[in-house]
Amino acid sequence: MMKKKLEDINTLRKKAEEQLLHQTKKMQGISMKGIKNLAHELGTYQIELEMQNEELRRAQQELEASRSRYADLYDFAPIGYFTLDNNGLIMEANLSGAKLLGIDRRYLINKPFSAFVIRDDLSIFRTHLLETIEKKLRMTSELRIKQKNGAILFVQLQSISSNDNEDGSIFCRTATIDITERRHMEDAIRHQANHDALTNMPNRRLLMEILTVTLEQARRSQDKLAVLFLDLDRFKYINDTLGHNAGDMLLKEVVLRLQNSVRASDTISRTGGDEFNILLTKISVPDDILTIAQKVINSFSKHFMINGHELDITTSIGISIYPEDGKNIEELFKNADIAMYHAKEHGGNSYQFYNPAMNIRSVERLQLESQLSRALKRCELTVYYQPQITIDTQQIFSAEALVRWQHPEKGVIDPVHFIPLAEETGFITAIDEWVLKTACLQVNQWHNAGLKNLCVAVNLSAKEFQTKGIIERITRILRETGLNPEYLSVEITESIVMRNLELMLPKITKLAEMGIDISIDDFGTGYSSLNYLKKLPIQTLKIDKTFVHDITISDEDEAIVGAVIAMAGKLKMKVIAEGVETAEQMAHLKTLGCNKMQGYLFSKPISAQEFGDLYRVSK
Ligand code: C2E
Ligand code: CA
Ligand code: CA
Repeated sequence: MMKKKLEDINTLRKKAEEQLLHQTKKMQGISMKGIKNLAHELGTYQIELEMQNEELRRAQQELEASRSRYADLYDFAPIGYFTLDNNGLIMEANLSGAKLLGIDRRYLINKPFSAFVIRDDLSIFRTHLLETIEKKLRMTSELRIKQKNGAILFVQLQSISSNDNEDGSIFCRTATIDITERRHMEDAIRHQANHDALTNMPNRRLLMEILTVTLEQARRSQDKLAVLFLDLDRFKYINDTLGHNAGDMLLKEVVLRLQNSVRASDTISRTGGDEFNILLTKISVPDDILTIAQKVINSFSKHFMINGHELDITTSIGISIYPEDGKNIEELFKNADIAMYHAKEHGGNSYQFYNPAMNIRSVERLQLESQLSRALKRCELTVYYQPQITIDTQQIFSAEALVRWQHPEKGVIDPVHFIPLAEETGFITAIDEWVLKTACLQVNQWHNAGLKNLCVAVNLSAKEFQTKGIIERITRILRETGLNPEYLSVEITESIVMRNLELMLPKITKLAEMGIDISIDDFGTGYSSLNYLKKLPIQTLKIDKTFVHDITISDEDEAIVGAVIAMAGKLKMKVIAEGVETAEQMAHLKTLGCNKMQGYLFSKPISAQEFGDLYRVSK
């Protein structure tokens, strides 16, 4: 518009001058009147010319204002503008650009832009410049720049090439936007998706990503790497007894110990509740793996202080090594997992390297699992009975029912070998129900056969006790078998009672109201406050056989047993000492005031037939 106006003014001026010339020529032969007219016309042109000059001035002012507006816009726009020559030297920059680089504009000119790009991102910048200038592409790249004060900014460069330089050389114009905030937000979101919220450790997803890359590297460089699968021993118990907060605190502490045990290049990942994976790379000698595994185990040897509780926690570790134990992620994980279960089976607090024989054992386990589910139907389970004796009178007062599996090929299998499996698979409910029914029927038979007032004790598993309808099932079995509840005792392991006192309280109370005796099994092995003893209607404590075993040689065990007996007396509870094997142990227990015992000294668990015979002989 401005240009148009200037053109108009010039045309007008030209026109006026031409007319003036024309009139001057005409003047040679004109009259006075003519001269007057001419003077008048000239005056008019003068005015017109002045007006035109005024208009020109105004247009120039407008142009100036517009130029300054543009300069303001250029300088104060929130975008940094740079013009770079084909070597990446800064030819021009606006104020925002200078601000973005954290340097005064005066010192920017002729400086290489790359001087502000952080070293890791230099290659991005070089490619960006090359593609813009040589291939004339419209490029967008993201990279980090370092300001003069050291602050790092994420910026986005958008460039186009141009060759409107006087010498025709190509240069690059770039708009540069600060995207630091956006990138930090993206980073935070990415971090959340890849890390465990509680411990801030890489989660399974990130571990898989890392493992995919490291596995590929190991494949190319023929390196070894190891996957450690960790599972805390008895974590569930801590969580259930001390609460989830304590459990969470413990997990965080565990992470600190793991971090102190591995090298900076190793990856620790929390992949489940109390499951961790450690990925060991850069293994120069296989012994490195062993050293680290042992270091991890050792790091648990000092107790954990959680909410004022001293907790002794251990861990079981399974280890698989690439390439021997697996060529891909799935195999490595599966085999580390199998090895971890073997470490657990060996009592925990240890590590196990995977070996192919373990796989065979897992297959065996699977077979056992399917065989166990058919064992009941095929009548392969039987109940043995172990007498419980009143020492004063040398009378059998009760029989503890203990299940046995008469395996068609393997012979008699003890419950320690299949009860945990049955608990895992849920098959325990059917077993416990069957044992309870069989024992109730048996004791009725014995009563009918003259074994007067004989009681029976039945073990109930934790899993069974947590199921709904357990009270209804026991009530139904008592009704179906017609046994007077007073002759029945149920044994519940101490740790199970403690695990969920709130849940157990109404169930145990109901059973006690029905007239059933409640015994706490393995008493003394679950470390906990004894507070629950006051809350629950418990009639009997069974002192665990580990205390009885060393009672004659260990002052501590003697003190514990003595204290339990004294406490039970005060609380009006019965005490049965389990696992009595020698006459010395019996005598010792007797002096401490224990009058009811069970153990090999009197009899091993025996068949119902044998039990009946034994009872009659001892009468
Ligand atoms: P428990 O309830 O503590 O049973 C006592 C265990 O100690 C029995 O092992 C018994 O044979 C053994 N024992 C008895 N006297 C002595 C002794 O003088 N010395 C030694 N060293 N051991 C002795 P068993 O029959 O192998 O049972 C092991 C565990 O399996 C039981 O421990 C119990 O927790 C579980 N169990 C057994 N039957 C059942 C059942 O029907 N249901 C459930 N849920 N668990 C059962
Ligand atoms: Ca028992
Ligand atoms: Ca026991």
